[in-house]
Amino acid sequence: ISFFTGCRSLSQLAELPETHQILRQTCRDYADRELSPIAARLDKEHVYPAKQIQELGAMGVMAMEVPEELGGAGMDYLAYSLAMEEISRGCASTGVVVSVNNSLYIGPILKFGTEEQKKQWIQPFTTGEKVGCFALSEPGNGSDAGAASTIAHQEGDEWVLNGTKAWITNSWDASAAIVFATTDKTLKHKGISAFLIPMPHPGLSLGKKEDKLGIRASSTANIILEDCRIPLGYMLGPRGSGFKIAMQTLDSGRIGIAAQALGIAQASLECAADYAHKRTAFGAPIGKLQAIQFKLADMAVAIEGARLLTWKAALLRDSKKAFTKEAAMAKLAASEAATFCSHQAIQVLGGMGYVTDMPAERHYRDARITEIYEGTSEIQRLVIAGQLLKEYQL
Ligand SMILES: Cc1cc2nc3c(=O)[nH]c(=O)nc-3n(C[C@H](O)[C@H](O)[C@H](O)COP(=O)(O)OP(=O)(O)OC[C@H]3O[C@@H](n4cnc5c(N)ncnc54)[C@H](O)[C@@H]3O)c2cc1C
Repeated sequence: ISFFTGCRSLSQLAELPETHQILRQTCRDYADRELSPIAARLDKEHVYPAKQIQELGAMGVMAMEVPEELGGAGMDYLAYSLAMEEISRGCASTGVVVSVNNSLYIGPILKFGTEEQKKQWIQPFTTGEKVGCFALSEPGNGSDAGAASTIAHQEGDEWVLNGTKAWITNSWDASAAIVFATTDKTLKHKGISAFLIPMPHPGLSLGKKEDKLGIRASSTANIILEDCRIPLGYMLGPRGSGFKIAMQTLDSGRIGIAAQALGIAQASLECAADYAHKRTAFGAPIGKLQAIQFKLADMAVAIEGARLLTWKAALLRDSKKAFTKEAAMAKLAASEAATFCSHQAIQVLGGMGYVTDMPAERHYRDARITEIYEGTSEIQRLVIAGQLLKEYQL
């Protein structure tokens, strides 16, 4: 029991509350009906799922934690994690659009924004008609986010931003961005501030859409800022608090990415198990072969362990307890589970795993990013070890 100390309720890890079970089933049904059948086409044609994102907005999924008076679903992070897993099980690209809007864009505004900012920058982003993005990385620094070289300086009653942000998910489809830029280079990471910028906006342009290995229906591009002027009131949080905002946002975001990875892993397992029933070799279904059964068992164990870590991190966050270590553990375990399961699924399918007629190869491609964005697996290990060393300090 001590393993779960701090969770709002131990029983929630064993059996979800009824509200959450209903939400999970609703999202699962939606994904089976509307996402799984089109995911391969969206991936192949690099199409942003605009209609589906609006439908998810109508279901409350684009603003899960936002209070109802601001247009959101008013639910908790456990609910968000469940929705993210189910949506990503159907289409991992749609999953990342949902994730960025909820946890990277809306999340920090909800936590650090003024009441006026919440109305202006959250409310229109709850329905799925508009999505936001989060611009922290730069061409010269990703893991080392504190080394930001994008600059913001004050001129009269405006901030003027110059620099390039790299790899920005949703950028081509977004109506606003949270951009991190340094207002005082001498202070290093303590000189970074966060800014809200509408899109499109004079002085802000987009680079080419990256041609990616996976999550190909979501857009990724550079955001280029050239004398981009915004009112002073578009700063999010106090001056110099940008790095803290970014790190706290990523702590939460990692739970969503863990859930995305779980969805990919679960889809891989289902694909492999289904094929194991149907495919015969040497006169019997391959599911009768112990070699195949062991693969399915190992996949299920990896998924279930990562899912418990993800739910635990979400429950800790919901109960306002520290969750940095658990979020990093969840992301590390779930992303490695997604890579492992999608690899194994291809093996179970044999040649059919290698072609686009079946979803296994897409899961394999989609899984890979979960080990890179919102902190690589190496960075998750650093975060976990850093927390452990604090815990075990005598
Ligand atoms: C498809 C996609 C979408 C993305 N979306 C966004 C987004 O919406 N917003 C955003 O801001 N960013 C986004 N990113 C950027 C992403 O977060 C970074 O790519 C990631 O943080 C890694 O940074 P990097 O690519 O600069 O790699 P680097 O930091 O250069 O790392 C290269 C290698 O060195 C390792 N490494 C670096 N530092 C250490 C260390 N201290 N200890 C051990 N190993 C280390 C890394 O783990 C990695 O293996 C996205 C990236 C991709 C590919």
